[in-house]
Amino acid sequence: MPQIRVLSQQTADKIAAGEVAERPSSVVKELAENSIDAGADRITVEIRDGGIRLICVTDNGCGIAKEDAQIAFLRHATSKIREIGDLENIGTMGFRGEALASICAVSEVEMITRTEGEEEGTYVKAERGKIVSTGEIACNRGTVLSVKNLFMNVPARMKFLKKNSTESGYVADVLGRIALSKPDIAIKYICDDKEVFATSGDGNLINAILKIYGRECAENVIELDYSEDGVRVFGVIGKPEISRGNRTRQTLFVNGRYIKNHVVSKVVEEAYRNMLMVGRFPFFILNIELSPQLVDVNVHPAKTEIKFANEKKIYDIVYHAVKGRLSGVERRPSASDKTDGASFELAKPTNAAEPAQFKLNLTPKIEPVSRSAVAGFMKNTVPEAKEEGGAPLHGLSDISADKRYIVDDRVKNKSVDDELPFEIVEEYDDYKIVGQLFSTYIVAEKGDSVFFIDQHAAHERLNFEKLMSEYSERKVLSQQLLVPVVVDLSQSEMRTLSESAEYFSNLGFVIEEFGVNSAIVRQTPVDLPELSLKQLIYNLIDAVGENRKHAVPNFEEKIVDMVSCKSAIKANRKLSTEEAEILLKRLDALLERGISTCPHGRPIRVEMTKTDFEKMFKRIT
Ligand code: ADP
Ligand code: MG
Repeated sequence: MPQIRVLSQQTADKIAAGEVAERPSSVVKELAENSIDAGADRITVEIRDGGIRLICVTDNGCGIAKEDAQIAFLRHATSKIREIGDLENIGTMGFRGEALASICAVSEVEMITRTEGEEEGTYVKAERGKIVSTGEIACNRGTVLSVKNLFMNVPARMKFLKKNSTESGYVADVLGRIALSKPDIAIKYICDDKEVFATSGDGNLINAILKIYGRECAENVIELDYSEDGVRVFGVIGKPEISRGNRTRQTLFVNGRYIKNHVVSKVVEEAYRNMLMVGRFPFFILNIELSPQLVDVNVHPAKTEIKFANEKKIYDIVYHAVKGRLSGVERRPSASDKTDGASFELAKPTNAAEPAQFKLNLTPKIEPVSRSAVAGFMKNTVPEAKEEGGAPLHGLSDISADKRYIVDDRVKNKSVDDELPFEIVEEYDDYKIVGQLFSTYIVAEKGDSVFFIDQHAAHERLNFEKLMSEYSERKVLSQQLLVPVVVDLSQSEMRTLSESAEYFSNLGFVIEEFGVNSAIVRQTPVDLPELSLKQLIYNLIDAVGENRKHAVPNFEEKIVDMVSCKSAIKANRKLSTEEAEILLKRLDALLERGISTCPHGRPIRVEMTKTDFEKMFKRIT
């Protein structure tokens, strides 16, 4: 049995430091919260090398009096509570009196501070938990706190940090949240000499959203402010247009403190029921304000979790606050509505309607054929931009390029400028299309069997196989957009995009930075319907970002599938017999290779034999 030892103070401090000072962003959070507690209305955060080399937080708050300046560095030194009972009425962000001591244990800290009443400011320098020098200094009212060489003496923690750019992204997230929770404080974030964002501090949440998330978000939020029984819920919720594929854009503050609470997310999502597709999550920034006595904030060292005294009631109030606003809002039609093929309305949810964006690239009856269509057909690529009716060529264009029809040799030898019509003969026909069920499943008879085919699963798999093989050879066919599409992005999304540019270019996208908060998409993989492009870009960025945090298994297949899925025909869409036949014919080639499910593993085709029917109807036993 190893001997039990009491840890040295220094070791104990380092361990405790791990709880509040986990990484640069947690240090920034603690320091910025101290500035807020000091009543500052202007806070500037500057970092270098992901925060390892420098974190400097400057505020115009109340400052620390000379006689308190050194005490502030002691563990459990706080001006915010005196006894445990005060916790029940806590109105400040800090209260544990641990942050400065913890940060100082694992770095070199310099503090310059002055209160209103003092003529001279105070200077304190501390290294690895000990004060090394103090003095007087001329300075503005407020506090400048700089942290240098973070974790230099804690190699284990150092190892655990990510790349500088990732760490500075986390800092952007933390500061972005603070800016959203305090629109009345002007917050500026500078990373490696570059200003990342700066909010005006004018008290308007939507202006802060504009700075953090960009114009698209700012223009698609609904403000709410609802009170019931002493509980106030206010902030904004997003229209379905800005819903996302994960919960990263759900932000909750309880009495001004950022909180992770899964139940509140669920409750808000419940209020959006029938308005969002499965797998879509609403945008929200909500504040819950209630008597501090009804929340326990001291359940987690980083203070990001809380307990409500009367949980059910609070969740009820949140639900009503959100639901009430959603049912009163008219939907503004917008291109990005067409997310996944279903449509929605805010006021009265409807069933999925036929999406407008998929026009098949099939020449309806073979003769006469337009010249441009023939040119495209002959090249076996996607024809230019317009079909006869002027409809965009999307969706099944690659199907039309398939060997559905054998072009007569005479035709092949003809120039496309020669007179039309030309002759086309059908290859073979072994499926008999019986019809389509629920606008979603193709029913086809072949030999002694009837097949039910999930049209979306089938097309998605076909697209996936094609795109995956192009992707692995770095040969994805890409097309230029007639009108480039601008996508608003947050700082961390911009970073994800620029640091993972390769994924996007390998997928056939050409995307460029476009100002501080947006990117411009100039080229996309062929066949991608433009209307769901923005959504796809957001989803891809989310996925790439997740993968950067923790490697996702089969990641490349997943992103290829995200594109394949967007370019596939959806359920709830009527197909012509001709389209169905083409789909099935191509499907056969896949089935021959033993591929029988969509990329998510759902079956593409279900078979029932004549014998099954005979048994069912008790003709045989
Ligand atoms: P806590 O915030 O939990 O009280 P900290 O270790 O973060 O503990 O800070 C210790 C004390 O130092 C605070 O209670 C506060 O009095 C003082 N302090 C820290 N940062 C600032 C600041 N930026 N402006 C004014 N006072 C500060
Ligand atoms: Mg604090």
